Amino acid sequence: MTLLQSDLLLQVPTVIHGFTTKREDLPDWGNVSLIQGDPSHALDNRAKNTTTLDIPPEHLTFSLQEHGTTIRRVSVADRGAGSDSPESSLPPADGLIANEPGLPLAIMVADCACILIAERNGQAVGAFHSGWRGTFENMAEAAVRSFQSLFGIPPVDLAAWISPMICGNCFEVGGDVWKKFEERWGRDHLLENPLRVNLPGLIGTQLVQAGIEPSNVENSGACTFEEENLFSHRRGETPNGRMMGFISIKK
Ligand SMILES: [Zn+2]
Repeated sequence: MTLLQSDLLLQVPTVIHGFTTKREDLPDWGNVSLIQGDPSHALDNRAKNTTTLDIPPEHLTFSLQEHGTTIRRVSVADRGAGSDSPESSLPPADGLIANEPGLPLAIMVADCACILIAERNGQAVGAFHSGWRGTFENMAEAAVRSFQSLFGIPPVDLAAWISPMICGNCFEVGGDVWKKFEERWGRDHLLENPLRVNLPGLIGTQLVQAGIEPSNVENSGACTFEEENLFSHRRGETPNGRMMGFISIKK
């Protein structure tokens, strides 16, 4: 498996995006995280995935991710933060949003979702990290709201893609987490025997409840825990790695 892309986001002419995968043909199986495996391999792997789309890897822009719902507006002055070392990343934020061209925003995951969102004419883009904590706290809604508050873009003008993540059949949780979700989100996306949470299903609901048209929300449907060609934190194999979702307005 090579780079994954969203059919929906490919329809936005001025936007470039992608989601890396686990690959046998690349060193460290295509890992793109500088804190997993050999950092020089990770840098090469980033380059192999982005240069085909005319994105210089040194322009990729990262923040420190902390499973929160903080969203940071990024400008060209921030471009390349975290592209050479984790220490140069932007301060903690699990969402990055921008309306300037040539500024690729990147989120790293392995079981959590990377949500990529674009204004449908390419006026603004964002990349958001939503694992179980972020999903519980409704990162999806925070993401949609940020387009409105920062750029005046209404939800009906947005298209969103939910990356591969651990699916509802596979994501087993303890009773405390299951109850927490039931109290806040109801039972629609919960399963029993064993107790599980359907995170991609819930994120899809959250995006629609935040105002995006259902036809403008696309779920990749791939499960990181089941697919050998995707990295899974929970599957816990060695060597392990991270995948990267990225999105940019074309220069
Ligand atoms: Zn699964």
